[in-house]
Amino acid sequence: MTLISGERIRMIHMRNVSGLLALSALALLVGEHAHAQSAPPSVSDSTTMAVSAGRLLDVARGKYRSNVVILVRNGRITSIVPAKSFRRRGERMVDLSRSTVMPGLIDGHVHLALQGNRHENAIATLTAGFTTIVDLGDVGFRVIQLRDSITAGTAVGPRILAAGRWVGASGGICDFNKIGVVGDSTAYSVAVNQNIAAGADVIKVCISKWLPDAYASPDAYELPDAAIRSVVKSAHTERRRVIAHDLSSGGVRAAVRAGVDGLAHGALVDRALAKEMKAKGMFLMPTLASLTSGSPGSPAEMALAESVRIAKDAGVLIVFGTDAGVLPHGSNAQEFGALVRAGLSPLEVIRSATVNAAMALGISAEAGTIAVGRPADLIAVDGDPLRDVTILQRVRFVMRSGRIHVIGYHPSLGWNHPRLPHVVSVQVSVASGHHRTSGRRAQGISRPVISK
Ligand SMILES: [Zn+2]
Repeated sequence: MTLISGERIRMIHMRNVSGLLALSALALLVGEHAHAQSAPPSVSDSTTMAVSAGRLLDVARGKYRSNVVILVRNGRITSIVPAKSFRRRGERMVDLSRSTVMPGLIDGHVHLALQGNRHENAIATLTAGFTTIVDLGDVGFRVIQLRDSITAGTAVGPRILAAGRWVGASGGICDFNKIGVVGDSTAYSVAVNQNIAAGADVIKVCISKWLPDAYASPDAYELPDAAIRSVVKSAHTERRRVIAHDLSSGGVRAAVRAGVDGLAHGALVDRALAKEMKAKGMFLMPTLASLTSGSPGSPAEMALAESVRIAKDAGVLIVFGTDAGVLPHGSNAQEFGALVRAGLSPLEVIRSATVNAAMALGISAEAGTIAVGRPADLIAVDGDPLRDVTILQRVRFVMRSGRIHVIGYHPSLGWNHPRLPHVVSVQVSVASGHHRTSGRRAQGISRPVISK
């Protein structure tokens, strides 16, 4: 196809369905303003969009507001008003009046470049409802480049905070492609500063081995205390948070002593250790869906889930993370059910992926809540996620910074599945030179589902 890049994805969209069907879908979405050439809404689009929400979840208060209209302009929320007092003045309407609207989700632990195509992985993550993610380790700086392309609007994906390369010992748990650090604490400081110079937003450090070793040898960990201190000092000097792969109790004690900000997989902790974490303001980011095989599970897995409960009861901030890349990208929401099975309430797990994650990552002004002035990062589901968190695995609508990305797609169920009965339309917004590489995936997500 000899299309300008900005047109490519919409042409894929049109090719997949009859033109009439596609037009109907767009008409439903944008009312009388729809026409075949209408540009999708984008960050630079100054047209106001009015998102009509059947109910809006205020995650901080744990309460719903019924029938509200969220106005979005230039990618940000400009006002939120009761539907009955809304008077339309030429806005593009987005009808989610039968759905539950909530903030875009945050996954604090993924690896977009671990395997597969990172562009496709980013799109799968975004269309599953995750509008912000933290990439916690790469063998190079490919995800930092992807982050910059997404920010520049030349690639599609969630907002990314990227760690760059894992920082760990040579021969250790995170030594992939020989990126492990050789040398004393000075060499760890150099490794941190290389990441920061390359543009890393956070630093990932690997302190202990995996769960079976941490369970068998609870006091063992592989990084010297001086190295951990050096990583934390170098990162904090440059105002970067440090998140640790650290599952053993001994490793957590070392991390607490050194001032690590958060733990990336959950860890084996008792009440006393959880109290120390709380006192230091350290957050815990379990990855239970990827680390536990479900009930009844091995003794180590049960101990890990129990530790999450203990930490929560001690007041430790629980932050949502999945290690996606280990789990398939786009299936991140599996973790909600795993956290509920570990003893958190649905509201607590939704907070972990919204307000808590934003607070832990220092991005509360940009993500985690729906409020005037914030980027318009919205998702919609059908049903009540405060009763059943598994419906978060069936996100119907995603808006990230005012761009609508998908409606009615599920990463496992695909399009037009009977469990996706009535959703309106789809509009994949921006296009870029990257769609050649992610073309197959882009085709997959750009097929509309039409309601009757
Ligand atoms: Zn990981």
